[in-house]
Amino acid sequence: MDRFEGFKIVLTGDESLVSTYHHTYLGFSSGLPMDVFPSLLGNIIFPTLSGEHGRMKTSQYGLCKIEASLIDNGFSRSDVAIVDPRRLDEAIGPETRVLGIGVLDPLGINYGTALLRVVLSLMGVETRLQSYMSWATMKIFNNDAVKKYRNRIKVIVGGQGVWEIIDSGLQHRLGIDCIVEGEGELVAPKIFRTALEGGEIPSYVKGPPVPVDRIPVIKTPSRGLVEVTRGCGRGCLFCNPTLLMFRSIPMDKILKEIAVNIEGGERNITLHSEDFLRYGSTSLLPNEDKVLNLLNTVTKIPEINSISIDFVTASTALSNPKLVKTVGGMLGLSDRNPAIIQMGIESGSPRIIKIIAPGKPKPFNYEEWPKIVEEAVNLLNDSGWWICATIIVNLPQETEEDIEMNMRLVERLEHYNVFVFPLPFIPSGSLRKVKDMAGTHKIVSTRNLELIALAVYDAIKKIKSLSKHLVAKAPFGVRQVLGALLYVASVIGLRRLQRNSLDAIIDHFKARERILI
Ligand code: SF4
Repeated sequence: MDRFEGFKIVLTGDESLVSTYHHTYLGFSSGLPMDVFPSLLGNIIFPTLSGEHGRMKTSQYGLCKIEASLIDNGFSRSDVAIVDPRRLDEAIGPETRVLGIGVLDPLGINYGTALLRVVLSLMGVETRLQSYMSWATMKIFNNDAVKKYRNRIKVIVGGQGVWEIIDSGLQHRLGIDCIVEGEGELVAPKIFRTALEGGEIPSYVKGPPVPVDRIPVIKTPSRGLVEVTRGCGRGCLFCNPTLLMFRSIPMDKILKEIAVNIEGGERNITLHSEDFLRYGSTSLLPNEDKVLNLLNTVTKIPEINSISIDFVTASTALSNPKLVKTVGGMLGLSDRNPAIIQMGIESGSPRIIKIIAPGKPKPFNYEEWPKIVEEAVNLLNDSGWWICATIIVNLPQETEEDIEMNMRLVERLEHYNVFVFPLPFIPSGSLRKVKDMAGTHKIVSTRNLELIALAVYDAIKKIKSLSKHLVAKAPFGVRQVLGALLYVASVIGLRRLQRNSLDAIIDHFKARERILI
């Protein structure tokens, strides 16, 4: 038998990006700095599943898509592998010619990570170290096997987080030969082929939106996640420009990807989109027949244990409340069996919405936005969803009145099943290149700090009450440990926020609730 000398093409991502998270909602913790989230904890919370030579049995969707695009374009399955980042030394050898790395937040500076640092500081915890995800990404670049064969290997990096490397100018210091920005499936086969054959590859490639008929079907299970729409088309300025073109994936491809997941043992399916209710639509309004047909088909697959959807837009939900209730019912949701869905509120100020997200409230008027949000939250709660919502704060042109409107919306939403996370503004998406948007990354306004403390305090309280449910899909023993960890972390977080945050905030909470944690 021939000795294994390494896969010719190794695809990987950091261990928190490719982890199964035990099928819990704990993925967010990869943004925590390592002062409070040491590597040992990462081994517990971010398990990775791999087989012979480190080939992953289930992995991150973006890597699965790139692998599929290579195989569909003539690369052999035995030459290409998505590899467990903890086992790179078993997969990389003298035969390896290309290392493709998917990144989400390689430098630890995206919205979520920035929020976690601000919250820790409000809790009185000053942090110095990089985030877990950033540390785990750098571990790939510094891996011994990568270094050993570095002169034979071309390093290609893609994924949502490449803007951080481009804007910081760190590409060459990190030893990256080529960065792919945008959708990768059309451009990856050519770049990887050239790299494999030892040719010169460009240092930067822009990946255009992929037409639906050329989006490949994954070959490796993707932790149960299957894309049903790609892109959005509402055009918010801070969002990823690649989301400009909205596409619905044909049913046959969706079913094939569900089958790949089921075959790999994944029984909990997430239908991924930026706005699920627009599946099959050619406008900003839902196409009820297409949505119901998709769910009717998928819910009849006997091997599936649970189906969830991940994103919704408030205006789409409110434009067809009956459909929202029907979808909740078809997914088996109720007060006793809730699911979590993500929604971008972006701002409680119509003025700010008009500037940064004018397409978001359509078909409604931007002036009605706070009302649209509250009514959509109420509707989604009634239909069985808890909502994980975000607003963007500390924008360069934000006025005190805008902040007060955010404050009022957050206060009103305290009474609903919604966690609101105010994200400190970072010039991203189309705003990266806009001069007067290049604002500071620091929170300068005390009132914004109060807003963050208010919202996060409320969110942690709700997370504490929901901690069992947030880890419910993990295996039995793991569920008990992670549920307890989350509960304890919530209690400590609440106490520290109370003790260390501004007096005004503490008074605000005591007066409103008369509780002491
Ligand atoms: S609605 Fe969401 S996905 Fe669409 S452009 Fe705005 S932020 Fe991006």
